[in-house]
Amino acid sequence: MRNTRNFTIIAHIDHGKSTLADRMLEMTHTVEKRKMKDQVLDSMELERERGITIKMQPVHMEYKGYSLNLIDTPGHIDFSYEVSRALKAVEGSILLVDATQGVQAQTISVLEMAKKFNHTIIPVVNKVDSPYARVEEIKEEVAKLLDVDAASILETSGKTGIGVEELLDTIVEHIPAPVTEFEDSDAFRSLVFDFQYSNHQGLILYVRVMNGAVKKKDQLVFKIAEKTFSVNDVGIFTPGPKSTDTLSEGSIGYIVTGIKEAGVASVGDTVSATLDTHNALSGYEKPAPVVWASIYPESQDDFDELKRALLKLQLTDSSLTFEEESSGLLGRGFRCGFLGMLHLEILTERISREFDLRIIVTIPTITYEVLTKKGDIKVVYSPVNFPAEGDIAEVYEPWVSVRILVPTHYMSPVMTILYEHEGNIIHTETFGDDRVELEVEMPLRELMRRFFERIKTASSGYASVSYSFLPNREADVTRLDVLVAEEIVPAFSKIIAKRLVQEEAESAVEKLHDVLPRQQFATKIQAQALGRIISSKTLKALRKDVTGHLYGGDITRKRKLWEKQKKGKKRLAQEGKVHIPQEVFMKMIQ
Ligand code: GDP
Ligand code: MG
Repeated sequence: MRNTRNFTIIAHIDHGKSTLADRMLEMTHTVEKRKMKDQVLDSMELERERGITIKMQPVHMEYKGYSLNLIDTPGHIDFSYEVSRALKAVEGSILLVDATQGVQAQTISVLEMAKKFNHTIIPVVNKVDSPYARVEEIKEEVAKLLDVDAASILETSGKTGIGVEELLDTIVEHIPAPVTEFEDSDAFRSLVFDFQYSNHQGLILYVRVMNGAVKKKDQLVFKIAEKTFSVNDVGIFTPGPKSTDTLSEGSIGYIVTGIKEAGVASVGDTVSATLDTHNALSGYEKPAPVVWASIYPESQDDFDELKRALLKLQLTDSSLTFEEESSGLLGRGFRCGFLGMLHLEILTERISREFDLRIIVTIPTITYEVLTKKGDIKVVYSPVNFPAEGDIAEVYEPWVSVRILVPTHYMSPVMTILYEHEGNIIHTETFGDDRVELEVEMPLRELMRRFFERIKTASSGYASVSYSFLPNREADVTRLDVLVAEEIVPAFSKIIAKRLVQEEAESAVEKLHDVLPRQQFATKIQAQALGRIISSKTLKALRKDVTGHLYGGDITRKRKLWEKQKKGKKRLAQEGKVHIPQEVFMKMIQ
């Protein structure tokens, strides 16, 4: 254990974590230089393409007689719980700051998180090779943030390798060796910080060994699922899996379980030799979906295939939840819960790519808690289940704490956006010479109304944003329904702020009026909220030329045909069935 160093790299997105990690792999000869392709650690196709790390990437390196275990973490806020588990698995963090960008909102947020775990922090200014690097200035900025001497801050380039060896030496020197948390027995106990699934080997756990050691054929048990299993294999990541005889205290590696069912593994769970409830590791949280959307196959023939895809994805992602639902418009599909917008985007993209399925994804909504007048508490994650205005006593919704770092020059447009998104400014502070750090509290609902895009645009890309969740607060929201021919179309229902009722009602009606094809009869399009019709417009009937084949003037025959047509339309209108094509639906949710 004395020669082990466990650490992560933390940074704002795009500051160069994965590139730097790749360079470390090369310099420690973990991966031969000729085998280095672009971005060894971001191995998923989607990760390479989008330049983001999605999956936790642990890697074991040997350096000057030391075992270095690095966990490359996803930078995005959606995965902050997973990141917190990875932070718990290590003793130190490299705080990476891009020399062309300086400290950004997420730099501060992840630093705060690492401090909570009492990490030893090694500050590094990265991308010093870039012609746009402002090395001295950024070093000063980082020095102030950490209250350290600027001269002690390392300079690196993950691209060229400048400073990487010095960084490795600093890791060995400064990050403490793992220490054993006090435990009565030396029985095996480990923290699951991620897991994988393979058809062949089943569930593979990514663990940090907290106590004792594990080897093949040992009997272990999951604390949460209370499931026992026999260990099929153990090993380390180099970065590919490499079997070892044992995994010992303080190390990071994998355990092959052979388990082939979903719902057994969860990030943050404790896997140990006994089911003694006293020694579960602290900090486990059940994943709580915050963003919901429905997924339907474009063709109903693909329904079973879609179900298989979701089940398969759930095997490696316990934070994905789903249940079957059906909508008259789209047929059978699934209501799915996600950790956030990026999580939703990634999963829907994986469904289309890895399973080659064409799918429809509905407008994302969030979870609301409704206290009814009868005194029941309803958790609502689908607008159609949102109770009628008259039945509601109180509604609660998720709130977020948002950190924004913005150049002073762009403060005024940013303030306008904050006002329009119900942002309460809690704290303002100058940051360096020409930036301001804002701490804002706002409803998650408002964050999802293109808040990030608006802030980015208003600041010409110079503002950075990060956020974390706050407890639910009371909400002033209601359900908006869209009616076609006097009938609610559930797929178009939304939960919106009451202050936006008029605006949203009008725009929904206007939009549907534009995209809905004319029917045989005049069709009423309405938006309804707070128990009344807020906006209404009539789509004219399709006028088929029923008399075109008649030459000249036989007006009585024409009248007869028109009369017949009118009757037919009336009958259709009474049946009230309007077929809403899928394209219309797609246009409505864009
Ligand atoms: P991550 O999101 O923190 O993992 O960042 P990546 O490692 O994916 O890098 C983000 C972008 O910065 C990519 O376009 C890299 O090519 C670029 N980059 C990373 N490290 C360096 C560096 O040291 N110098 C320069 N000039 N560019 C870099
Ligand atoms: Mg990365």
